[in-house]
Amino acid sequence: MPIPTVRFLGAAGTVTGSKHLVSTGKSQVLLDCGLFQGLKALRQRNWDPPLLPADEFDAVVVSHAHIDHSGYLPVLVRHGFQGPIYCTPATADLLKLLLPDAAHLQEEQAEYANYRGFSRHKPALPLCTVEDAHAALALLQPRPYGKTFDVTSDLRATYKPAGHILGSATVTLDIEGHAHRLAFSGDLGRWDRPVLPDPVSIEEADVLLLEATYGNRHHGPDPVDDLARVVREAANRGGALIIPAFAVGRTQELLWHLRRLEEQGAIPILPVYADSPMAIEATDVYRRHREDHDEEMTAVMDSGGKPFATRQFHVAKSRQESVRLNDLVGPVVIISASGMATGGRVVHHLNLRLPDSRTTVLLVGFQAQGTRGRQLQEGRREVRMFGREVPVRARVVSLDGLSAHADQGEILRWLEGFRRPPHRTYLVHSEPGAAEMLQGVMTSQLKWTVRPAQDGEEVPLGA
Ligand SMILES: [Zn+2]
Repeated sequence: MPIPTVRFLGAAGTVTGSKHLVSTGKSQVLLDCGLFQGLKALRQRNWDPPLLPADEFDAVVVSHAHIDHSGYLPVLVRHGFQGPIYCTPATADLLKLLLPDAAHLQEEQAEYANYRGFSRHKPALPLCTVEDAHAALALLQPRPYGKTFDVTSDLRATYKPAGHILGSATVTLDIEGHAHRLAFSGDLGRWDRPVLPDPVSIEEADVLLLEATYGNRHHGPDPVDDLARVVREAANRGGALIIPAFAVGRTQELLWHLRRLEEQGAIPILPVYADSPMAIEATDVYRRHREDHDEEMTAVMDSGGKPFATRQFHVAKSRQESVRLNDLVGPVVIISASGMATGGRVVHHLNLRLPDSRTTVLLVGFQAQGTRGRQLQEGRREVRMFGREVPVRARVVSLDGLSAHADQGEILRWLEGFRRPPHRTYLVHSEPGAAEMLQGVMTSQLKWTVRPAQDGEEVPLGA
């Protein structure tokens, strides 16, 4: 029997394109199937043919619905994959929103390239289509937390809550006839965050793939206090508070905090707009999946409360409703995607309001290299949008503390759940720097054998 291996096909040395191939000699299974995002050189990798002919992958096990972990599924299906795609029930429902939306974006980009004539390919083809996304959705096989299931004839998997977004899970993989267990953290969430349960520990693994997005950071003590301060200051400036945020997860979390802060009288009652066609559906999925709710969320739901609605709450669903927000003057909160301002409606709001010194832009998520969000975070005075440089006179504030990713201390806290150290730990899902920092701490404090995963390398799942 050959020794089983895992090969890092993405999210090694970068935070996107999460894709790890587990090969047992009998089966080939992808852990995650994410899209590369951010820098152009990364995005171009989405166009590379898959490592194997697509029909040679036996199955995909997805950790959670974020596109950098799931967005390659329609592309894999386009290449001919027809096997089962495992995920939790909430992840399945979120993918029904996210995959067609991401594919639609690809189609739009191809159309735009054809219209402008700047593609080298004539005509420019989309990476995948909405039809591919629906074909991928037809392959979904939802599996609940805590119940071990067969992935292939020789691989069994178990999901546990990761506390990162609704449906997010860690994965353990057991290989038949092989004593070594592989564990994959997926993206780790945090303790005591709204709505979701805390991350659940894994007790035993021989090889661990551990995310290190914020392996070099320490989130502040109470981000909600900071959020309240930013909202009050933004109201005092008299302009819009624009929060680039993903429609799924981040938007619901922000609305939860704003509602609570209003109830506590910590912020003024302002009109709050969720400018997203997906926000209503995503909120509905969040309300429906009670298996993913913590005690407080359960209590709000049981009392008939609206967990994600502030006092003056509005949703702009259609494009016309979105455009009408341009006429709003005075203090107003606009939450709109994408979270790194790479596309979506938020770019229109930034284009209009960045030159206005009364505007506040609040960045609440990880801003990857090469994104507009990162440029704003780094204090650029001009940002390119719609083919021209737009001056930045707005105030730009970053709040790391609201991140959906565990920081260094929280990663270490999750690792405490292991009864013995894994033989080897590979750090994935981080930009250079964060992984090395976490490696240093894990080596000196825990004495674990750990190093960053190298892009494309294949490592054995033995002792
Ligand atoms: Zn994620």
